[in-house]
Formats: sequence, structure tokens, C-alpha cells
Amino acid sequence: MPATIDLTNPAARPARSPAARSMDGKPTLIGMSRDEMVEAMAEAGVPEKQRKMRVSQIWHWLYIRGVSDFADMHTISRELRDALAARYTIARPEIVEEQISGDGTRKWLMRFPPRGAGRPVEVETVYIPEEGRGTLCISSQVGCTLTCTFCHTGTQMLVRNLTSEEILSQLMVARDRLGDFPHKDTPQGAIVPAEGRKITNIVMMGMGEPLYNFENVKKALLIAADGDGLALSKRRITLSTSGVVPEIVRTGEEIGVMLAISLHAVRDELRNELVPINRKYPLKELLDACRSYPGLSNARRITFEYVMLKGVNDSLSDAKELVRLLKGIPAKINLIPFNPWPGSPYECSDWETIETFADFVNANGYASPIRTPRGRDILAACGQLKSESERMRKSDRLALEGLMIAGHGAD
Ligand code: SAH
Ligand code: SF4
Repeated sequence: MPATIDLTNPAARPARSPAARSMDGKPTLIGMSRDEMVEAMAEAGVPEKQRKMRVSQIWHWLYIRGVSDFADMHTISRELRDALAARYTIARPEIVEEQISGDGTRKWLMRFPPRGAGRPVEVETVYIPEEGRGTLCISSQVGCTLTCTFCHTGTQMLVRNLTSEEILSQLMVARDRLGDFPHKDTPQGAIVPAEGRKITNIVMMGMGEPLYNFENVKKALLIAADGDGLALSKRRITLSTSGVVPEIVRTGEEIGVMLAISLHAVRDELRNELVPINRKYPLKELLDACRSYPGLSNARRITFEYVMLKGVNDSLSDAKELVRLLKGIPAKINLIPFNPWPGSPYECSDWETIETFADFVNANGYASPIRTPRGRDILAACGQLKSESERMRKSDRLALEGLMIAGHGAD
């Protein structure tokens, strides 16, 4: 049975630090690069010679200890803590809802403050526990500009890109809630790996197209991988793209994480329909970019995601063409049973069809695991994420700005 924790009830809300004023408009230190943080120290009056040292201390408190209140940074003088708190925030975003699936998958709806003229936005983040590992699926945008026909997120217009802080905060909140920072408790009964870290892997497979928000995603992932902080291995971070070809090689060069491609069709005609970005960057260009992906080897393969749509892309001839197309690319193929959502126009392929497809691909030398759907009961599975945040009409936006200036809140 899935469970929903109603966080509108103050008693059920996770404790928030006194500094948690998500609407106060102060810049946040979370998500800043080290260089930016050095600048922030200068703003707070830290003498030049001490700035780097202070940044190292704060980095440790934020990303190893997981504090969300300057008052907890005991190695830093009271005076400096106060000066920092006067200018900056390190508070977590608000968790609007936490849902727990019968299979242990957790989904959080988080609310972030408006950026400029707009409303607060809400995004979903999903935790998938498995034997020996725990994967966090992170969103990069609110909504998506692309309109893949089988994807629920694709029915939500892009509201805005998430900032590096908002991308990273999803990881911080999940670590708080799972007890994955020192001195934080794991909720009773939570399904998490038996030993070690609760979040061992990150996938940029939530809402949005990460390569349409390249700079913020890059900044957030480099912080997540920083060895003196959150220290997730780049081999355990996977970025999934629908095929934004010009940014693919850059992803390898500048971020250095593992790559996943949402392929879903092996002929341009069908892919144009299912994954419309294919009209701009057709299969040949996409696969050429994959062949040039920096660091590609048998130990560092590209994952090709392939959603199984009944009678659409699941025939044996599709499987044959898939094998032909990927020739020479170190690859594994993730077959994803289609996850339905309200009003979705497809059906999931029959189990035997999926197995026949998988067997063929396997027999031709590619690992082709069938991804067990997780968290379907709470709409947390691949492609089911969507939040209620809608893009506002200009007239509404102006009216809202007026309201906000008048101090009546943003909703
Ligand atoms: N926008 C990026 C990141 C999202 S990843 C991308 O498209 O790659 C989410 C993965 O789930 C993608 O492979 C996506 O194509 C797939 N997906 C979308 N809708 C789905 C659905 N209804 N059932 C199964 N998989 C789906
Ligand atoms: Fe956007 Fe990815 Fe969904 Fe396509 S599959 S609509 S790119 S989130």
C-alpha cells in the first residue's frame, strides 16, 4: 500500500531549521562553486587571506555534515556565522509532500521560491532502493520544452530551468530524509541499502531535459562529485538526454559523468514522432556524437533507453535494426516497460514481446536488462513525473508581481 505523508499538517512536517526562509530572497551558498563562495566570503567581510580556508570549512559543514543552519557550524566564530546568516541562506527547500510506494520507492514534491517574476515552482524527486544500492532520480527543469508523446512530463510546458542550488538541494533533502548525513536518523521501516550510503547513485532522469539547462546541471553535478564533499563517484552519476547533440560531447568533457540516451526508436520516421527533437538531430548525428563521447570504453558504456510500446516499436525487426545501429558503440540497452499515466496514448508491450526483444539484443552481445517498474502506484516511475506548476500568462504574472510587492505572498 502506498502511503502519503501530509506535510500540510505541521506535526508531520520534517523539522526545518530556523533559517529556513525559502521566500526571503537571500542568495544561497548551496550550489555555489568554490570560487563563487570565495567571493561570498569577501562580501561577508572575511579578510582575503582567510577566505579559502573558510570556504573549505563551510564546504565541509554543508556537504559532509549536511547542516542547514549557520548556527550549527561550530568551527566558525559566532561573529562570522552571524555575518553569513545576515547575507546568505543555506536552508532547504520546502517539502510539500512525501509519498512512499509499497515497494519502498519514495517521491518528494519540493517547492522552490520564484525566480524573478513568477510563482513558486514544484518539482518531483524519486528515490529507488535496490539490493546494495539506492538511486536518486533528480529533475533539471520544471516541465519540459520537448514533447515526447509517451512522456507525462512532456505534457507540462516548460516553466523554468532549475538553478544549480535547486538541483543540488534535491540530493540534500533526500539525504536528510533518508538519514544519509551523520547525525540524521533513517525513518523507521524505510527500505534502504543494508550497509553504507543510502544514496549511492544519481540519475538525471527526472523532469526536464538536462542538456537544455547545461550550466546549472554541470555546476550541481560537479559539486555532487567533489571529493571533499558529497563525493559521489562520476561513474555513479548518469545524465540522460533525449538527444541534444551539440551538448553531448561537452557533457563528457566538462562534467565527465555517464551518459544515457533516450533512444526509443531506431528509424527516423518513428523517432520524429516519439521523440520530436529527432527532427532537429536525427539518428545518424546522435549516434555519431555517442561514438565521440569522451572516455567511452567497455567499462564505461553508454546506456540506451528504450521504452516498450505495444505494436509501435517492439517488433523483432526493430530489435535487429537496434543492434545494427549500435554496432561499434560500447553500450547497454535498458528496456523500459511503458508506464501509463492518465490519458496516455500507448499501451505497454506484452511481457513475452519484451522478453523476445531482450533475448535477441542479448544474443547479439548487448546487456539488455528489463527495468522493473518501480513506484508506479505513486506515479513515480519513469516518465510519470509532472507537477502542477504551470507557466503563467503574462497578465497573471504582472498581477502576481503586484501582489508580491504588496507582501501578500505568492500563491
Ligand atoms: N529528458 C531526459 C531525462 C528524462 S529521463 C530524457 O528524455 O532522457 C526519463 C526516461 O524515462 C527517459 O528515457 C524517457 O524517455 C523515459 N520515459 C518517459 N516517459 C516514459 C513512460 N511513460 N514510460 C517509460 N519510460 C518513459
Ligand atoms: Fe522531456 Fe525527456 Fe519527457 Fe522527452 S522524455 S518530454 S525530453 S522529459
